Amino acid sequence: MRTPTFCGLTGFFLIFSVSACGVGSAVSTSGSLASNGSGVSSASFPGSGGGSGTGTICGKKSIQGQIIPNVDGEGDCGVEGAVLLQSVSGVALSSQPTVTCDTARALNDWVADTVKPVMSRAGADVETIQISAHYACRGMNGQNGGGLSEHAHGRAIDVSGFILENQRQVRVHSDWNSPEYGLALREIHSGACGPFRTTLGPGSDGFHEDHLHYDLGQRGSPLFCR
Ligand SMILES: [Zn+2]
Repeated sequence: MRTPTFCGLTGFFLIFSVSACGVGSAVSTSGSLASNGSGVSSASFPGSGGGSGTGTICGKKSIQGQIIPNVDGEGDCGVEGAVLLQSVSGVALSSQPTVTCDTARALNDWVADTVKPVMSRAGADVETIQISAHYACRGMNGQNGGGLSEHAHGRAIDVSGFILENQRQVRVHSDWNSPEYGLALREIHSGACGPFRTTLGPGSDGFHEDHLHYDLGQRGSPLFCR
């Protein structure tokens, strides 16, 4: 179990002060905790309709979402300094992934520096990134017995595809070898190496044939990009 205090987070009333979490502006709000059944606690905001409570987070205008209470998962699972991400660099995310701000910033950099320019060149601007996994209390590659996955700490995110402005869906599973988007997907995947410490995709190890896995790795670890 993790202690429920981080970045000035107190109970159900959350006061985030400037710079405590690298937050660019002070946010004061209240909400109630709800479990989604998978160990993820999320904040619901009275009368929000899903919209309010969302704004600039993680100290970057290009990162939009909500700050939520720490996720206290089973065993060593959990996320300290958790946020629900809505968009990065103007590109929507198909679900609101629960991650840390470090993960959010890496995703933001990758989208701005690689995904957007590569997709624009390949055909059309990217509108939405399809997220297939984010926080999850599980072992590496979804296996029991190994160490905990970076997903178990909100430090990893899986991407299964992209929806372009012309509504074309580019999927890792079916487009990795397509004449139209195969090269673009490879370039996009290569560009994640740097913002993220570990990158895995089709051909890496057999566990990532239908999605791209990106995580921040252990602190100080060398890049592991396949
Ligand atoms: Zn993953």
